[in-house]
Amino acid sequence: MAATSSIRYIKGIGEQRAKQFYKLGIATVEDLVRFYPRTYEDWSHPLSVPEAPLGQPCCIKARLRADFSEHRVRKGMVLYKGMAEDAKGGILQITLFNNKYLAQKLKAGETYLFYGRALGNLLRKEMASPEIQPASCAKIRPIYRQTEGLSSRIIESAVGQALPQMKGIPDPLPPSVRTAYGLPDLETALWQIHFPADGESMEAARRRLVFEELFLLQVGLSQLKARSRGETACILREDTTAAFAAGLPFTLTGAQRRVIAECAADLQSGRPMNRLVQGDVGSGKTAVAAALCHMAARNGWQAAMMAPTEILAEQHYKSLSGLLKGTGVTVGLLTGSASKGEKERVRAALAAGDIQLLVGTHALLQENVVFRRLGLVVTDEQHRFGVAQRAALAAKGDNPHLLVMSATPIPRTLALIIYGDLDVSVIDELPPGRQPIETYAVGTRLRQRAYNYIKKHLDEGRQGYIVCPLVEEGETDLAPARQYAEKLQAGPFRGYRVGLLHGRMKPAEKEEAMRRFSAGDIQLLVSTTVVEVGVDVPNAVIMVIENAERFGLSQLHQLRGRIGRGQYKSTCILISDAQNKEALRRLQVMCSTSDGFKIADEDLKLRGPGDFFGSRQHGLPDLKIADMLEDMEVLRQTGQAVKPLLAADPYLEKEENLPLRKAVEKLFSGAEAAMN
Ligand code: ADP
Ligand code: MG
Repeated sequence: MAATSSIRYIKGIGEQRAKQFYKLGIATVEDLVRFYPRTYEDWSHPLSVPEAPLGQPCCIKARLRADFSEHRVRKGMVLYKGMAEDAKGGILQITLFNNKYLAQKLKAGETYLFYGRALGNLLRKEMASPEIQPASCAKIRPIYRQTEGLSSRIIESAVGQALPQMKGIPDPLPPSVRTAYGLPDLETALWQIHFPADGESMEAARRRLVFEELFLLQVGLSQLKARSRGETACILREDTTAAFAAGLPFTLTGAQRRVIAECAADLQSGRPMNRLVQGDVGSGKTAVAAALCHMAARNGWQAAMMAPTEILAEQHYKSLSGLLKGTGVTVGLLTGSASKGEKERVRAALAAGDIQLLVGTHALLQENVVFRRLGLVVTDEQHRFGVAQRAALAAKGDNPHLLVMSATPIPRTLALIIYGDLDVSVIDELPPGRQPIETYAVGTRLRQRAYNYIKKHLDEGRQGYIVCPLVEEGETDLAPARQYAEKLQAGPFRGYRVGLLHGRMKPAEKEEAMRRFSAGDIQLLVSTTVVEVGVDVPNAVIMVIENAERFGLSQLHQLRGRIGRGQYKSTCILISDAQNKEALRRLQVMCSTSDGFKIADEDLKLRGPGDFFGSRQHGLPDLKIADMLEDMEVLRQTGQAVKPLLAADPYLEKEENLPLRKAVEKLFSGAEAAMN
């Protein structure tokens, strides 16, 4: 049996069992030993009866005083009762349900370990259906994620058989790295992660496996990055930022200038830019994009900006046209809903080079969209764009520069991993004069007061949003957006101009609603989350979010970013009757900070990084053991370790690096496909 053998070769695993293992993603012997325990049960330090905590799982060591007695309670229910005594005379009563087999196996006078929850008092406790093992089994036991029909104990026993097959398995971590960072070898680590001798060796094993996982990921990403850094013919010799800035109605912030400079250096370098610009809502990403598109145009190249929705594309088109007004840069718009004639006109102008900056949706990816000289591609909101789509657009030019803008602030280290093939710039400063948005969480009881508060602002000439959650399928308790808007118009907001924006409206209708809201024609916009990204109406100063508990933190943050964009003080009211702890915690976070990075950190803590990694769009492999929050320190170390290794052996050709190369290739075999 080799590491790559099917688990069918393991004793006791037949066809049926094997299928259950497949459900857990386990097909080979190596998959099995790489299926790490979720947690552990500590049977290694059994307690006496007085030491056992009440109501919590623990292990008690005691001697059985007599054989179990049988009690027939009713038809089909037999209890077996036993009594055990610890070394100091503490009494443990044990009840087993319908488990004659176990009850008969246990012998009076023998000492056993009882694992379960104990109830009772100091000297006399009881356990119902504990797990029972001979006293010789005092060790730390692994607990695995289970699936139907496949218990943790079955997995434990299969792993026990698989581990001896790992003898001499090649270790992807080169010896020099293991020595430098004090890491156990792979075989030891695998044994100790499943069947640790003690807490310390388990920790050492875990650290080594986390290190390995992050190390492989970083080696792979570094190689990808190096490969995508070929050469480009798009060399933008002249930095035109100063001319662009001079025409703006505002002064660029220091952060904007720094990020533009970082990008401009890429554009001048002769290597294609692959850069992520992260900036919190309202940090002024559009102006950064405009500066770079301006630079492209001035240097004789075309630029493209792609947005995930029509509304956003239109909004970008307007903002960019505004920011570039008077510069002579020609801006065009191409979306799916434009008329055929309009599309043709735009395409012709593009091919002729008469349009220097083209803004659009996925329509830009179509084959018949031909640029004359594409030099820069900007995509917005990376989270909604697949790597493949970015690549398709990039293929429209000759290795053009790529700029990705994201308003989802994520910790920098995490960004380095998720956007591993990109360099990262952060706009970490808001334009001056922004007033913090005051945020309150209130129960539905106070909804009428919230309405009154909105009215007060509308009367002062301001505008507002009410966000209602999307209606989920099969749900009737939440009025769909339309009904809700009608109710508001007829009732509490009679006499005010109420508008509606929801996801199922036709693009032209959405556009019309947004246009009327921008123009101040609509005073109160009732909307679903379509308003979430990008729209910019500085006169909107109040937002009420219904059923706020239904939204994730980052989503709430994006929504709230629609207000507080002008000179007026803005208020966000989160309406929720939620009682559960996590929801309350989320609302509390929203009320206490408006810092997108802090909110993202909290979001990560509450939801776990699974969501970032789970989205699959980035095409990166899943993490099995590393935790992006807990293991930041290891991530820093692996980053350090990768550099000298790749500097000395960029293609991993040295003998000692061969297992590493194999492992990286295996890890990225899925991800590569997504990137190409
Ligand atoms: P986001 O980063 O959320 O996309 P935008 O680019 O939409 O932010 O900018 C938000 C608002 O701030 C816009 O109205 C924009 O004109 C304005 N703005 C951008 N940069 C500055 C600046 N340096 N000074 C003042 N206002 C700015
Ligand atoms: Mg924006």
